Amino acid sequence: MAIITVDDDPGVSRAVARDLRRRYGERYRIIRAESGQAALDALNELKLRGDLVAVILADYRMPQMNGIEFLEHAMDVYPGARRVLLTAYADTGAAIDAINVVDLDHYLLKPWDPPEEKLYPVVDGLIEAWLTSDHRPVPEIKVVGHRWSARSSEVREFLARNQVPYRWYASDEPEGQRLLAAAGADGLALPVVITPDGEAMVEPADAELASRVGLATTPSKDFYDLVVIGAGPAGLGAAVYGASEGLRTVLVERTATGGQAGQSSRIENYLGFPDGVSGAQLTDRARRQAAKFGAEVLTTRDVTGLEVNGSARTVRFADGSAIDAHTVILATGVSYQQLAGPGLAELTGRGVFYGSSLTEASACFGQDIFIVGGANSAGQAAVYLARSARSVTLLVRGPSLERSMSYYLIRQIAAIPAISVRTCTEVVAADGDDHLESLTLRDSVTGRTEKVSAQWLFIFIGAAPLTDWLDGVVVRDARGFVVAGPDLTVDGQRPSGWELDRLPYHLETSVPGVFVAGDARAESAKRVAAAVGEGAMAVMLVHRYLERL
Ligand SMILES: Cc1cc2nc3c(=O)[nH]c(=O)nc-3n(C[C@H](O)[C@H](O)[C@H](O)COP(=O)(O)OP(=O)(O)OC[C@H]3O[C@@H](n4cnc5c(N)ncnc54)[C@H](O)[C@@H]3O)c2cc1C
Repeated sequence: MAIITVDDDPGVSRAVARDLRRRYGERYRIIRAESGQAALDALNELKLRGDLVAVILADYRMPQMNGIEFLEHAMDVYPGARRVLLTAYADTGAAIDAINVVDLDHYLLKPWDPPEEKLYPVVDGLIEAWLTSDHRPVPEIKVVGHRWSARSSEVREFLARNQVPYRWYASDEPEGQRLLAAAGADGLALPVVITPDGEAMVEPADAELASRVGLATTPSKDFYDLVVIGAGPAGLGAAVYGASEGLRTVLVERTATGGQAGQSSRIENYLGFPDGVSGAQLTDRARRQAAKFGAEVLTTRDVTGLEVNGSARTVRFADGSAIDAHTVILATGVSYQQLAGPGLAELTGRGVFYGSSLTEASACFGQDIFIVGGANSAGQAAVYLARSARSVTLLVRGPSLERSMSYYLIRQIAAIPAISVRTCTEVVAADGDDHLESLTLRDSVTGRTEKVSAQWLFIFIGAAPLTDWLDGVVVRDARGFVVAGPDLTVDGQRPSGWELDRLPYHLETSVPGVFVAGDARAESAKRVAAAVGEGAMAVMLVHRYLERL
């Protein structure tokens, strides 16, 4: 919390600051400036850092910018701060006029000796009035964006998934505009992210964001016992067991830890959580557990290559850099499939979302929502969003939910009046200028199409592994899932290129020392518990592999 004083006479400026410091220095930072512009710069800096300003005292007669002009600008930055004009006797008239211009709280006549009688009672009263209004400091990261800006949504999602606390400001609301002005941003490029120490980033990329908000992005070593690629439940499980069992372990994640599970609003079938657990909570605990045991966790690092160099396995990143390890666990899971149709790609992030129901939920308060999909993920999202939305319409391609969704969820959905289910329905197009405005739905039985007004569409239509970068290195099936263990042996034949005298271990791929766990594995269970279990089991097999090296 700060008190600011500005006076162009250095001697007076120092004297005012000294008097203020004497009485308020313990609780407030006393900041003094010798020109209106310097004081405005200080105010902008404080604003970006999330500091509070209780009182601003400005001398009236200053060159370039007089006290009233300065207070007018200061009001734009800190409208809640109490404003005092310092005047000489001759300026009293001007000060009285200024009460109308800048809504002045007080004017003080110079000199004011003794301050105990003439200065402190005034400032005490102003601070008291200021404290009674709701001014809380905002020390965390601030994101100024527009709810219909795709990158603004992505940045919020990124911070939320990395468990980085932030406060959101809409760019078209007064406080958002004040922050943009303080950062010198025009608001055309959004979002603007402001760090706790007041640095502003315009439209930052994930990697820049990660490093500026304190997430690790670079490995500390160039050789590890184990590199785990992908930080969903399988990768987190592998990192916890690897690190806790003494392996030098690094976990590398393309975006944010948590994987698909991190996006699940409520996981009801994970062992030990009879009341369910949010995916974000579960995976955040796992991340902390991995870090506690000494695993390095790198985010925003996309792995794009895997090479075999003698006994070392080299993992290459998108920027060309690489790390080596004795062993690798592939835990890259699957990614959402994209819904095809005119307008859908263009409006992604602007009303059309893949999976990210949790971060957008507050924006949908009291609104009508459409969800595409008939599996558990779509059902969970419907239940979750129905708590705040006016209505949720589940659009299902098949004739019923029974074949694709768990029974417990079907029952939950049936019991919530705000949710309706439209079967045999496909989304074929989306329309909107800045944001989704309408959807074209097709009845797959009659072939009839219908245009419905819609602002929010969440898509959960299955997923595919993104493993093209492993092409020619490890054996994958026709859909790109990584084949492992006994599945590699066809008619008693070992995979081509396999030179060891033993068969691949259970989760071992066609490259010795490279394992796969979780959804990325061919024929895997596609469940959180299975992924965690496979992560743990892969570490056990890593030990077995290392013993024989
Ligand atoms: C909305 C939703 C709800 C669900 N609900 C349930 C439930 O209730 N119960 C249940 O059992 N299961 C549920 N599932 C399924 C469950 O979440 C998955 O089975 C599980 O997350 C798979 O874990 P994984 O670690 O194998 O892969 P993922 O969770 O997919 O994680 C893979 C990670 O690897 C990263 N990655 C991928 N490629 C690279 C690369 N090249 N470089 C670096 N990183 C990379 C990805 O960014 C991702 O973070 C749900 C899934 C979704 C989407």
